[in-house]
Amino acid sequence: MTNLNLIGGEWVAAQAEIDNRSPANPDDLVGMFARGDAGAVDDAVQAATQSFPGWAAASPQYRADILDRAGSTILNRSAEIGRILAREEGKTLAEATGEAVRAGQLFKFYAGEAVRLTGDAIASIRDGVDVEVTREPLGVIGLITPWNFPIAIPAWKAAPAVAFGNTVVMKPAEQTPASAHILAEILHESGCPPGVFNLVMGPGSVIGNALVEHPQVAAISFTGSEGVGQRIAEGCARQGKKLQMEMGGKNPMVVMADADLDVAIGACINGAFFSTGQRCTASSRLIVEEGVHDAFVDRMQSAMRKLVLGDPLDAATQIGPVASESQLRGNLGYVDLARTEGAEVIGGAQLDRPGYFQAPAMFVNATNDMRTSREEIFGPCASIIKASDFDHAVALANDTKFGLSSGICTSSLRYARDFKRRSEAGMVMVNLPTAGVDYHVPFGGRKSSSVGSREQGRYAVDFYTSVKTAYTFA
Ligand code: NAD
Repeated sequence: MTNLNLIGGEWVAAQAEIDNRSPANPDDLVGMFARGDAGAVDDAVQAATQSFPGWAAASPQYRADILDRAGSTILNRSAEIGRILAREEGKTLAEATGEAVRAGQLFKFYAGEAVRLTGDAIASIRDGVDVEVTREPLGVIGLITPWNFPIAIPAWKAAPAVAFGNTVVMKPAEQTPASAHILAEILHESGCPPGVFNLVMGPGSVIGNALVEHPQVAAISFTGSEGVGQRIAEGCARQGKKLQMEMGGKNPMVVMADADLDVAIGACINGAFFSTGQRCTASSRLIVEEGVHDAFVDRMQSAMRKLVLGDPLDAATQIGPVASESQLRGNLGYVDLARTEGAEVIGGAQLDRPGYFQAPAMFVNATNDMRTSREEIFGPCASIIKASDFDHAVALANDTKFGLSSGICTSSLRYARDFKRRSEAGMVMVNLPTAGVDYHVPFGGRKSSSVGSREQGRYAVDFYTSVKTAYTFA
C-alpha cells in the first residue's frame, strides 16, 4: 500500500511512488510513498492559502489544544514511531525513540507558546498617540527537511509555524518519508483543519524547488546541506521570501590537558560517532592539547573498539548503518583522502555484511588545512588535530567556514569561560558532546552554518511571525 500526500485534509495519490528501504538491510521495504510533482505542490499551496485566514484568526487556545493533542499522541506512540524511524534512517532504537519523544515535547512546548504570544505597548513621543507592537503570522510557509532527524526537525518547524497562525506545506527528505507521514497522520487526527498542514513527498529538485519558486509561499524554513541551501537562498532572494536555513558543520571539540579524560573520551565518542556521525552538530574535529594527545588517541582507540555496531533495532546496538549507499561511498572516499593527505587512519572500513555499515574512523595527525578537516563528511569520521596550547586550540577551532556548535573539555573555569566567549559557533558546550541539545532553547549557528533567526525555543517566534507597529491617535 502506498502512503499518500496530505493536501487540503485529503490523502491524495501521486502518479509515481518512492520505495523506502532500510539502510541496515535494503531488502527490508519500510513502505511505498507518493512521489509528488509540481502540480501537487500547487494544490497544497492553494489549500494552505485558502485555510490561512481562518487559521490565523482562530483563537490561540484552539490552536494550542490541537498542538497539545498532537504532542500527547506522539509521546504515547513514541516506541512505535521510534521503530519506524530506526528502520528507515538507521539510528539506534534508543536514539530514534528519544527523537520521537523530543518531537512530542516540541508540540507540547509550542502549544504553550501559542497562548503566550506577546507584543508591546510603547509610549509615543507624541501627545495622545498610543503605539502597539504586535506579531502576526506570515501566511503559507514551506518547510524543507533533511533525513537525519526525520521527525524532530519537521516537528521543530511545523509546531511553531502552526502555533503562531501560519499554514504549512512540508516537504520531507525522500530517504525518510515514513516519519514525516506519521507526523501528518497525527496532526490530521488531532483536529488540524483541512489545509493547515499539508505534506508533499518527492525529490528536492522538484518539490522543494516548486515550493521555493511558488509566489504564494511567504517564507521557507530549510535544514540541509550547504549546496542546496545556496540554491534555495538564491530562489528566495529572487522571490523576496523570508528565509531561515540551518546547514552543515565541522564542529570542533577542544580537549585540554587538564580535562577529566573519562569525561572527554565519553563526550568525543558520543559527539563524533553516535547517530553514525550523521548529526550537523557532530564533533568532527577533535583538537587535542599536545600534553594529552597520545594518551587521548590510545583511550579513543580502545573506546572505539568496544562500540557495538549492528542492527539499529537490536537494543544492544550503539552505532547503526550509514543512512544510504551514496552516503557510505562518500564517507569511504574521505577515508581514502585522509590517507592521501597524510593522516594515520584508524578504523573507517566498510563492514562485510548487508546494509551500509562503516566502522568509526579517526584521522590521527591531521592538520586543519586538510580537506578532511575542512569539509563536512557527515559520517562516523573524526580528525584528530594537535594544539600547542589554549590559544592555538581556540584559533584552530574557529578556523573554519562553519559555526554551528563547538565544545571544550577542561577542568579550568578560566578556559571554559574564555572558550565560551571566543568560540565563533552558535552553540558552545563545556564538558559535553557538541551534539545533543535541549528541545526548548535556541538552536542554530553562525557563519555558513546558518542564515536567519534561530529555531527552537521562544526565539522561533522571530521567524514565524512578522512584527507590526500600530499608531493610534484618539
Ligand atoms: P540535502 O540538502 O540533500 O536535503 C535537504 C532537503 O532539501 C531534502 O528534503 C531535499 O529533498 C531538499 N532539496 C534537495 N534539493 C533541493 C532543491 N534544489 N530545492 C529545494 N529543496 C531541495 O541534505 P540532507 O542530505 O537531507 O541532510 C544532510 C545535511 O543537513 C547535512 O549537511 C547536515 O549538516 C544538514 N543538517 C543541518 C542541521 C542544522 O540544524 N544545522 C540539522 C540536520 C542536518
